[in-house]
Amino acid sequence: MTPEYIVVHTAAFNGNNCDRDMIDRWHKDRNWSGIGYHFVIINNKHNSKADGTVENGRPTNKTGAHALGLNSRSLGICCIGHGDINDFTPAQYESLYRLVGKLMSEFFIPVSKVIGHRELNILADNEIISSRYRTSKSCPGKKIDMDFIREQISSSVSHTDVESSQVTDETRLAMTNAIAVLQQYRAQFPNAQDELDEFIHHPEVIAMTQ
Ligand SMILES: [Zn+2]
Repeated sequence: MTPEYIVVHTAAFNGNNCDRDMIDRWHKDRNWSGIGYHFVIINNKHNSKADGTVENGRPTNKTGAHALGLNSRSLGICCIGHGDINDFTPAQYESLYRLVGKLMSEFFIPVSKVIGHRELNILADNEIISSRYRTSKSCPGKKIDMDFIREQISSSVSHTDVESSQVTDETRLAMTNAIAVLQQYRAQFPNAQDELDEFIHHPEVIAMTQ
């Protein structure tokens, strides 16, 4: 998986000692292969782990299970705590900015593609994902201002522009024709239409067809 977005979440759990292992158990109970987030950031309600500790979840080369409709294109970071009740702690913010900055430069992700889970609805409004993936969740929480987070990240990391790939006119034409053929026969693969839409709207594909 080549991640294109970073999605910020809250654990939406106000209890003590929540961490990667607790979430791993929750997600296994849902019959998932284990924790659906790629990273977890501990808060000050843990007895033995320091506030702001970053724990690894799913490896970044594995597709996560945290943002339905965008999983195949994103990394998921879960901040422990309940974002509807409490803001992230200062130590969590510090770790979040550092982690996001590192992932942005590693995977060439612009700050505009660092989003909160609830902002999947903006992607649906813009037809980047299917409208069936709209979410009613407030995640990462009512206390969390994603614009503020993006501003902080912008001022703390140097902006990385995604390099545009070199595509010949021949490739462009072949790709455009191939997609036209798929579109023409889409009724014949009713269960794969979302995947086709996701493919067509992928920036790499857009870059190759415009
Ligand atoms: Zn979420």
